Amino acid sequence: MTAENIIIIGSGPAGMTAAIYAGRANLSPLVLTGAMVGGQPSLTNEIENFPGFPEGTTGAALVEKVQRQAQRFGARLEYDEVTEVELRTHPFRVKTYAKEYLASAVIVASGASSRKLGVPGEIELIGHGVSYCGTCDGFFFRDREIVVVGGGDSALEEALFLTRFASRVRLIHRRDQLRASFILQERARRNEKIEFVWNSVVTRIIGHNEVESVALKHVVSGSPLSSARPAAHAFRGAAARGGGEVSVLSTEGVFIFIGHTPNSRICTGQLDMDEAGYIKTDKLTHTNIPGVFAAGEVADPVFRQNVTSAAEGAKAAMEANKWLADLEDRSYPGA
Ligand code: NAP
Repeated sequence: MTAENIIIIGSGPAGMTAAIYAGRANLSPLVLTGAMVGGQPSLTNEIENFPGFPEGTTGAALVEKVQRQAQRFGARLEYDEVTEVELRTHPFRVKTYAKEYLASAVIVASGASSRKLGVPGEIELIGHGVSYCGTCDGFFFRDREIVVVGGGDSALEEALFLTRFASRVRLIHRRDQLRASFILQERARRNEKIEFVWNSVVTRIIGHNEVESVALKHVVSGSPLSSARPAAHAFRGAAARGGGEVSVLSTEGVFIFIGHTPNSRICTGQLDMDEAGYIKTDKLTHTNIPGVFAAGEVADPVFRQNVTSAAEGAKAAMEANKWLADLEDRSYPGA
């Protein structure tokens, strides 16, 4: 078993920024990257709102640069996934598929994963027309008709990206107002390849070996669902059909962007969480266990931006550094 100063679980913007700061504090941090190296930006085609990139950048380029920056300051990356943690005893124990570690401090920056629709056919057809990543799979849908599910920034950003490949993109949203930011709404509205299917939910994804169609149920316009949390800059869609009406829409691809769930399962029963599974922290990224910090989307149900996750990662590393220094002081006899 290897003993580490500090283990960072996750390699997205929070984890890698924590690694830069912990590296610069001479802590020689170990980053356990998780299965999706680089986190969500690695699945994003274009990032336009990260400071310092006036022309925008690709997710892949940002991930590569941030990793190089962390390694420059002595961060070590293990391409492995954490399967278990024991945080109730100190030093903490962190288990991966390949190894087991002891750590004096831990930063949980394990991010969040795409939420599933939870309808029949979805899981069975992943990789056969069902996707949660336009950047990864868009290319396979050249000149095809596809649907995108969701009404937030991710759904619109991905729908716009997918118009580079697909001949038509139908965006299915459960309300008649979008949640996405004004700039994305405007871009989508101007894009001739994008059509909106309002007040509709996907109830089944149909296909044998490949996606062939989706079953849609129309929800009543003005129902509690369709009026929930209206977007500030919403534009209206076509009039809704009668509530409960069911239809089948032919499509070769179903891209789902309906939010995320935090990757906090390994800490269940040890770290305090809210009802949705987000780890609870104070303003300084401290969890309920001294020496364990949480940063980024695993602890952020509100902002969920690359830049806010990076900032939380920096805070977590600075606090962990302080905590380790105090721990060292306490360990001197007579201190
Ligand atoms: P989000 O903002 O939570 O939006 C999720 C969308 O999916 C909502 O429109 C929601 O509908 C819909 N939805 C949720 N559950 C559903 C279900 N079971 N069936 C059908 N539709 C469902 O998630 P997001 O778009 O992934 O964005 C997450 C965060 O990242 C946000 O803070 C966003 O601003 C940010 N982000 C920013 C950018 C950018 O700045 N360029 C890009 C991507 C993401 P309702 O609207 O009815 O709730």
